[in-house]
Order: sequence, then structure tokens, then C-alpha cells
Amino acid sequence: MSAPHDPSALSVNLAAVPSNGARVAVSAAREAFGFPDAEFEIAGDLRLHGRLDRLERDGFRLRAGLRGELRLECVRCLGPVPLRVDEELDLVYLPRVAESTAPGGGERALEASDMNVSFYDEDRLELAETVWEQLHLALPVKPLCSADCLGLCGSCGADRNRHPRCGCDDNTGRADRSGLGALRDLTGFPQTPG
Ligand SMILES: [Zn+2]
Ligand SMILES: [Zn+2]
Repeated sequence: MSAPHDPSALSVNLAAVPSNGARVAVSAAREAFGFPDAEFEIAGDLRLHGRLDRLERDGFRLRAGLRGELRLECVRCLGPVPLRVDEELDLVYLPRVAESTAPGGGERALEASDMNVSFYDEDRLELAETVWEQLHLALPVKPLCSADCLGLCGSCGADRNRHPRCGCDDNTGRADRSGLGALRDLTGFPQTPG
């Protein structure tokens, strides 16, 4: 319990945070965070660098930059969509027990309605949870490799970005009504990168 604050720890012992705050300097690979199966991959390390300060009353404030590189899946063609994460976080953590039992609980409930407030248990702050939540907030609802991604052919599954004319249109009469493929061929519009 008396161990000094470890800036690189994913599980922060809040009791060890000095009154003038502490540095947070986490840099870890996906495995270290213990994320469950996600709709994204993490390329390289995720970094969380900043400060953890004590609030006047019980609680802490984390101000830190979250940076890393994710790889999502295009909702149309299932191809890779790189996403750079570069977020400045400003989050408040309150002890969970104080939420309902401590004097001024109503005030805390008010604070808790703020989406930047989380709760911690037993003097431990699990930064992996914070990173997990913040990554999800950063995700686009429908990742696209390109705004005009042509997706997969509904018949043969061919990637229409690479094979605009897989031949199914002719065979099934399922014409590409958007005409994007034809337009792309006519204009020599460059293939989607990646
Ligand atoms: Zn795509
Ligand atoms: Zn096809």
C-alpha cells in the first residue's frame, strides 16, 4: 500500500497519488489492456500521457492525451480502415461509495450526469477501462475505406473497388444502378488506396 505512484501502471493505486498530483505515462500494447474482442485492431502501442490530480473533495481529475493507431473494417467492402486516435481527455473520477451514502450525495449525482464523470472502487483507477471507453467514443459509426467505396458484389462477393466488373451484372441483370463503377472506368478515377 505504501508503494509510490507508478506513472506507467494501468491500474492506479489512488492512495499513492500525492496531494500535488501525479504523472500518468502509460504506453502499452493491446494485450496489456486486456480488451475483449473488439470491432477494431490496435496497431502498435496505445499511449496515455498526462496528469492525475486530486479534487478538493474525494475524487480525481485526469487530463491526458490518448494516442494510437487503430485499424477498423470498412462496412461496405470489409477492407482495412486506419484510424489515428489523438484525443485530449479531461475526466473526473469519484469514489463509488460516496455516490449514495456520503453527505452531498445529491450534488454528486448531479456531477455524475456529466458524461465525463466515472466512478472508482477501493482506491483503484483502472485506466484500461477509461481507454476502452474513450476509444469507442472516437470510433466512427460506419467506418468507410473511402466515401465512395463500392462495396462487395452481392452475388459473388468480389470487391468492386478492385473488380468493378465481376460479370454478375450481366448474368443476373442486377445492374449497378449507381453507375459509379462505370463512371470510374470511364474517367480512370484512381482505385481506392489501401
Ligand atoms: Zn470499403
Ligand atoms: Zn459479382
